[in-house]
Amino acid sequence: MKYCRNCHILYSDEAAACPRCGVAAPEKEAAPEPEAQPDPGSVRRDWLYLVIGIPLFIAFSYLIVYLIKTIG
Ligand SMILES: [Zn+2]
Repeated sequence: MKYCRNCHILYSDEAAACPRCGVAAPEKEAAPEPEAQPDPGSVRRDWLYLVIGIPLFIAFSYLIVYLIKTIG
């Protein structure tokens, strides 16, 4: 959706200008992507999350199944 600052309405993205007042929509300012600095520590951290997260998730799943079986 586009927003008209002139009459404060929202209108279709396909419209080049506001259907109400005809004021052209301001172009979306494309923010340049900041150059991502390769951080070797972040890759290692991702692996750590994976190594800890997956067994934790499996353990949690078993716990849920165990609880359901115990209650039911
Ligand atoms: Zn307008």
